[in-house]
Amino acid sequence: MTRTVSATTANWGNYPAITAEIAYPETPEDVRAEVLRQERLIARGNGKCYGDAALAPHILSTLRLNRLLHFDAESGVAQGESGLLLADLLDIIVPAGWFFHVTPGIKNITLGGAIACDVHGKNHPAKGCFSNWLLDFELLRADGSVVRCSRAENSELFWQTCGGMGWTGVVLSARFQLMRISSVRMRQKAVRAENMDDLFRAFETHADWPYSAGWVDCLAEGATFGRGVVYLAEHSERQPDAPLQYPHRNTRNVPFFAPTWLLNPLSIRLHNNMLFSKAGTGEREVDLDHYFYPLDRIRNWNRLYGRRGFIQYQFCLPEASSAAGIRQVLQTVRSSPDIPFLSVLKRHGERPAEAVHSFPICGYSLALDFPRTRTVFDLVKKLDDLVWHYGGKVYLAKDACSAPRMGRINPVAFGEARFSSLLRERIGQ
Ligand SMILES: Cc1cc2nc3c(=O)[nH]c(=O)nc-3n(C[C@H](O)[C@H](O)[C@H](O)COP(=O)(O)OP(=O)(O)OC[C@H]3O[C@@H](n4cnc5c(N)ncnc54)[C@H](O)[C@@H]3O)c2cc1C
Repeated sequence: MTRTVSATTANWGNYPAITAEIAYPETPEDVRAEVLRQERLIARGNGKCYGDAALAPHILSTLRLNRLLHFDAESGVAQGESGLLLADLLDIIVPAGWFFHVTPGIKNITLGGAIACDVHGKNHPAKGCFSNWLLDFELLRADGSVVRCSRAENSELFWQTCGGMGWTGVVLSARFQLMRISSVRMRQKAVRAENMDDLFRAFETHADWPYSAGWVDCLAEGATFGRGVVYLAEHSERQPDAPLQYPHRNTRNVPFFAPTWLLNPLSIRLHNNMLFSKAGTGEREVDLDHYFYPLDRIRNWNRLYGRRGFIQYQFCLPEASSAAGIRQVLQTVRSSPDIPFLSVLKRHGERPAEAVHSFPICGYSLALDFPRTRTVFDLVKKLDDLVWHYGGKVYLAKDACSAPRMGRINPVAFGEARFSSLLRERIGQ
């Protein structure tokens, strides 16, 4: 049965927000009926993309299509419906000694969302994107037919759907390979970098660590311009008698939208100084939840940016131009009135030639969160020009207002017209 509601809806950035009709089908047959009923619609998982990707006047939510269909604890192959949350899998797979090869920095996302954005983690050079570990999926197309896609079967459709932002159809279910772990602990090392050259050096000299992600102090100036901290990690070995239970932590909630003045130059400077000086250099043990999902500890943290919401600008540059490009991006940000609160720098490796829509290219990506102000759109235009000039691209899972060319993807060249989001319409004009 399909329940339908009309509601004001936004993705994680709370911008844009629209009133949409949202259908919640419960079975693949319900999905088929809904797809045939609407002239235009878009599939939506848990709405944890930031911009306008999972938004349209008619939305098909997969949240009630969330059954785990099969899990083989011997081989580590899991199969689930597309609305299954990665978070809900953890209590089943971790006690059996398995974890995700690739996970983004949030666990409350669906399998369908992971495929449609072809998400990446902190280990892209070693493990690639989610598609690297995807075995096959069932896709419901515009004519109501269901197609099985894998590297061997309907392979073109397989690769167009991975990172294809939902434009090829609705993923109904998928099978993917998990990774063996013997402990829920991680060995983590923080490396403090005094300036930007140091920061890139820290990534390069520690390239043998399987996981790495950095924070950049976007307010540092002069000799400390581009200073930051690189957090490295690897899975720990089993400790005798240590149980393999997923380590759930208490969460805190941001119960209401914060006033817009909360994030101001002074509060951000204080926050940055604290992050830099508190980052203990050296090694320590943390658990899986702590390392992979630090932001999940604060529910609704997006409300800290106020009712107007925020923009996450995430771009990736080729290796050869990463240092120069990121330096110029930070200088441009410094000369604007808009100050990013969060910033995450990641190193990326080569991607398979077929993964045409995956966001990461071999080089570095930087994600910057800006409160939505009157001036931020002018800044985004300037950043787009720089990223384009340096041969880069932006991540469509985060995009709300970049120029249509910036995702380096042509929505007219693939997919089906019936599956259309605000994003597709915005960049397809
Ligand atoms: C705090 C935070 C941290 C994040 N960190 C990372 C990160 O490290 N790496 C990274 O890659 N991403 C990251 N993301 C982005 C997030 O992982 C992706 O946007 C992911 O796709 C969200 O999944 P979702 O289920 O919420 O999908 P939604 O946001 O609902 O949808 C995302 C896209 O998938 C499509 N889609 C969803 N379900 C289906 C389906 N069944 N069939 C076809 N298309 C479908 C939608 O149309 C839309 O285009 C982060 C997001 C947040 C909020």
